[in-house]
Amino acid sequence: MPLPTTGGHWQQHALWEQCSPACVIFGWEQMPPRPELDIWALGLCDTTAQRSRDPERQVGCVILRPDKTVAATGYNGFPRRVCDDPGLYEDRDAKLHRTIHAELAAILTARECLEGYTLYVNRMPCSHCAACIIQKGISRVVTYPTPTTSRWLQSWQHARAMFSEANVTVDYISNQDDNITNSS
Ligand SMILES: [Zn+2]
Repeated sequence: MPLPTTGGHWQQHALWEQCSPACVIFGWEQMPPRPELDIWALGLCDTTAQRSRDPERQVGCVILRPDKTVAATGYNGFPRRVCDDPGLYEDRDAKLHRTIHAELAAILTARECLEGYTLYVNRMPCSHCAACIIQKGISRVVTYPTPTTSRWLQSWQHARAMFSEANVTVDYISNQDDNITNSS
């Protein structure tokens, strides 16, 4: 029996299971539902963060165009061509002086204007990154909920205030129950 040439995937699925064990072989009946875009993009941030050499914290950032394609990715680390010796990451003072945060790494990697784009990052942006995000014209930030205790609290406070003043929407998505909270 020839494969159906019209209809969506699930229509094909329904026809296929009458004539072929392919559905069972590929496990399509167990296929989970497609993740919502924001959740998918934050998961991509988590994956991107795995490239960081920082043993203390791995942060990943993804910038999406309005058409949902990826404009740039970035993670926290030293600039290109700079010595990446693990010992420098262990030296906290040296690390702080040399590190580019994930958001700025993504912004600097992008080769186009970012006006109206959405920036995803798996940790609330610090005030310095927030300033850069605003300055580039990025209109929306999506991140996980901010921890309630951290040495970054003051920085996050300024970041939130600036995002609000500049009309940048910030959406917090819980990675537990996928609740969305809009902050501005
Ligand atoms: Zn930052």
